[in-house]
Amino acid sequence: MKRLRPFTVVLLAILVTLLLVAYDRHARAAQPYGDKEPDVQPPAESPDWKRMGKPQPGEWLAVFSEPGQTFAEYKKQCKNRKTDKLNKMYLVPLGDIAQEEPQLIEKSAQYLGIFFDCDVVTLPAVPLPEEAYTRKRDQYNADRLLDGVVLPMVKEKPDALAMIALANEDMYHGGLNFVFGVASLEDRVGVYSVARFHGVIELKDDSLELLRTIKLASHETGHIFGMYHCTFYECVMNGTNSLTETDRRPAHLCPVCLRKLEWNTGLNALERYKKLEKFFADAKLKEEAEFCKRRIKELEKFRSSAPKTANEKRKTP
Ligand SMILES: [Zn+2]
Ligand SMILES: [Zn+2]
Repeated sequence: MKRLRPFTVVLLAILVTLLLVAYDRHARAAQPYGDKEPDVQPPAESPDWKRMGKPQPGEWLAVFSEPGQTFAEYKKQCKNRKTDKLNKMYLVPLGDIAQEEPQLIEKSAQYLGIFFDCDVVTLPAVPLPEEAYTRKRDQYNADRLLDGVVLPMVKEKPDALAMIALANEDMYHGGLNFVFGVASLEDRVGVYSVARFHGVIELKDDSLELLRTIKLASHETGHIFGMYHCTFYECVMNGTNSLTETDRRPAHLCPVCLRKLEWNTGLNALERYKKLEKFFADAKLKEEAEFCKRRIKELEKFRSSAPKTANEKRKTP
């Protein structure tokens, strides 16, 4: 047999590697993550709904093996549900963030109100307590902020579905190097930090900082509403291990997680998407606004093709 020249061997090796990578990508996309199947389907087929595949090294699901939470499980597990008496969210700026970034606080409050279909009240800023600061790490202990500041505040507000603190200081929690936020599934409290959204490099684009902040705030507040990390679709409720993973994940809820929130709050999905679309368009977040537009079109089509009720039929001339 004719001997292959080294150059040809290298070329063949590259070709085989490329084929293997392509095959692996295909396998990853074709094989959904975990054993559970979603128990809520999208209203219509759309490339917007991407199932979570095999996690890549370093991603949240590669590090933490999580089973996910179906809609049926959520209904059994949820301990915090909106009622006539429990229907407000409170946002409290921690430290200097309200002076440094008043727009960010205002926009976050507005977004959370639309996202969770609740009134949001922004409280006066509260100073960061010295005892929550760990000097040798130059970070704040998120648990101490939660227990020492936020928990006593929620106890004074019997109508609070959620008490959320937003800070501009780096935080850590347990054995983790840092956290963007922590929230309690039972105590209606959360504390989030935007420090890493702009701390490493000076952000030129304010809309990126806003997008990261509202993703974080809605994700953590989703936990306060009893939602576990989503393992079914690419969704704002996916766990993320890094800023790049957060940036890769969408700002929206998948069909399963949206169904959970509909059941919890009684929100109207169509009206919610209309308000979200306006919010995103005003904030110059084009992709997110386009996503909402597609959902509005889909839901309006679905509504117009739904069979009419007996009452509506009677009114028809
Ligand atoms: Zn989370
Ligand atoms: Zn989801």
